[in-house]
Amino acid sequence: MSKRVIMAAGNWKMNKTPKEAVEFVNSLKGLVAGSKSEVVVGVPFVCIPGVAEAVKGSNIKVAAQNVHWEASGAYTGEVSCAMLKELGVDYVIIGHSERREYFGETNEMINKKARAILDAGMTPIICCGESLTQREQGVTAEHVRYQIKVALLGISAEEASRLVIAYEPIWAIGTGKTATNEQAEEVCGIIRQLIRELYNDDVAEKIRILYGGSVNAGNAKALFEMPNIDGGLVGGASLKLDAFEQIVKHDA
Ligand code: PEP
Repeated sequence: MSKRVIMAAGNWKMNKTPKEAVEFVNSLKGLVAGSKSEVVVGVPFVCIPGVAEAVKGSNIKVAAQNVHWEASGAYTGEVSCAMLKELGVDYVIIGHSERREYFGETNEMINKKARAILDAGMTPIICCGESLTQREQGVTAEHVRYQIKVALLGISAEEASRLVIAYEPIWAIGTGKTATNEQAEEVCGIIRQLIRELYNDDVAEKIRILYGGSVNAGNAKALFEMPNIDGGLVGGASLKLDAFEQIVKHDA
């Protein structure tokens, strides 16, 4: 069986102004044109209008880094799915460990966000991953299985087959300490097995599971070649043109 289409998704976090963002993607367009991998840039809300316009006609897709699950109303500071969809957003990253840690995002909230994103015709990129303590205590599998199980409550098999899960061990995010290929593969395999249990073989074969945590130009190829890893959610290295280009073209 051939593997799924590899995704190289950048998560810019709170970096780049709207002007810098447009300049970056205008340069990136030419560098990644015709790549075999799907290219996604996860940009701050205020950068979305300019970036979505700039990537038109290219192979770059736009992701938001968060969304609120309600359609509208008194939620000061929040942004709805309809607002993102109208701007041309394809993917929404939810459940990133930074949002869980600094903004109190829970598995139940992530489940509501996933539901709203799918209903709006966009695709969630659902993040999960263990802390160093959890890994050392040997509860990585239980923790990640629980996170994903709750996030997927009420999501149909057809919907699940289209979504993206990003396994991001917290100890590897922004630390320069990448999980080994085997560690990353093991947990991505556990997630795929969970999807098989929750749904069926077909969904398990279709769903894309990314690895995230200090992915760079040097380690992307080996990670993305692992059987259960379908690409990467990339933080720091996605802010640099040459590094992100090399990650996208890891198999060139
Ligand atoms: C991330 O932000 O999801 C991430 C994995 O960051 P970094 O690649 O910098 O570790």
